[in-house]
Amino acid sequence: MIKIGVLALQGDYLEHQRILQILGINSTYIKTPEELNKIDGLIVPGGESTTINKLMDFYNIKKPLKKLVQQGMPIWGTCAGMIIIANKIIQSSPTPLSLIDITVDRNAFGNQTESFEQLITLPVIGKQPFKSIFIRAPKIIDIGEKIDVLGRLPNKQPVAVKQNNILATSFHPELTNDYRIHEFFVKMI
Ligand code: GLN
Repeated sequence: MIKIGVLALQGDYLEHQRILQILGINSTYIKTPEELNKIDGLIVPGGESTTINKLMDFYNIKKPLKKLVQQGMPIWGTCAGMIIIANKIIQSSPTPLSLIDITVDRNAFGNQTESFEQLITLPVIGKQPFKSIFIRAPKIIDIGEKIDVLGRLPNKQPVAVKQNNILATSFHPELTNDYRIHEFFVKMI
């Protein structure tokens, strides 16, 4: 049986684990490099990317994590998690892990009060639109050739992307009661 790790340094890791539990998937919180050895995939939650980044440095988890993902371990970053796994970000901080070939602009959809919800069609999870929640969300401003765009806003802005074993969403599927993107990630494993 597979086990999914949720990086539990800061942010809404609890909400991700709630959904994995509902789906009957074994999951565990991850903080240290040693804990990475017992999982088959990792979710990096939304939160504050600068804080998550600092704590990743504190626990020395970046290098071993990067190696595992380069060897094929599936990883999914939501919102701040997308910033953490991006190739580049246009701000000076944090320094991203450079795992998925996207360039990201932090907070580019506006501040907390400009948070919004949008129904988005993601063909990989079915026809029914997915209620996507954007909270100080990162905007993907450039994508590499190997990126599959899984979903876009009505203005065509990509907000869900995949490159082989790496998934990234600008929004927060963990804050909804629609578990289809979590199920999709489970299938990637
Ligand atoms: N704005 C946050 C950051 O830059 C991300 C917000 C979120 O995860 N909801 O890290």
